[in-house]
Amino acid sequence: MKQSIHNHCRLCLTFDDRNFDNWLKVLPLWRKYDARGTFFVSGTMDAIAVNAMQSLQNAGHTVGLHAFHHAKYPKKPDTYIEEEIIPQLDVCRREGINIRAFAYPYSLRDAESDRKLFEFFDFLRGGAWQITEKGEAMVGNDRLFVKEISPKQLFFGMSASGNFDFHSLSQCFYRAAERNETIVFYAHDITAKVAPSHHISIGQLEVLLKLARALDMDICGMNEL
Ligand SMILES: [Zn+2]
Repeated sequence: MKQSIHNHCRLCLTFDDRNFDNWLKVLPLWRKYDARGTFFVSGTMDAIAVNAMQSLQNAGHTVGLHAFHHAKYPKKPDTYIEEEIIPQLDVCRREGINIRAFAYPYSLRDAESDRKLFEFFDFLRGGAWQITEKGEAMVGNDRLFVKEISPKQLFFGMSASGNFDFHSLSQCFYRAAERNETIVFYAHDITAKVAPSHHISIGQLEVLLKLARALDMDICGMNEL
């Protein structure tokens, strides 16, 4: 028997960099599925960025940070906070953008970087590839599936970009739905046509939203966790 009416299976779809135009264009699609995503913004906090971040936040989505110069953490461990985090965070604080999440550029992180960044963020996102053996099925890797979300939580995002393997993604959806786990995926732009490498197409995104809805997953931004 199902124990609770509360649904604890959560799907976090995340998007990186500065693809503001297309992110804002597909807002109606998210509404159609009662779904929210997380958008990790890199680069300068100019008016374009701030306006887009406010629009996403006002539409119920989560906005997170993704480093001022999109720098690799290992290249500047001592100055990372000062050069990559504070310049973005200061503007967000001033502009009323609620920031709790950070995605590592290139997913490059270690325990030391996590410790430092958890002083500023509740949620960090690395990459599944860091903890997955070549050829290993994602669905069998317990570290990709979070049962209890900690106040300071590191997630390993799985790729939902390019010509991703829908079968392997859907296996993860089914597992998470069955076991009430949280799973995190990442892409960058949301494009009209299926794009190679780093992006997801609108059609692909809708397939994922539909499947998650069918499985009664909560499709939410990280600030809702
Ligand atoms: Zn990036």
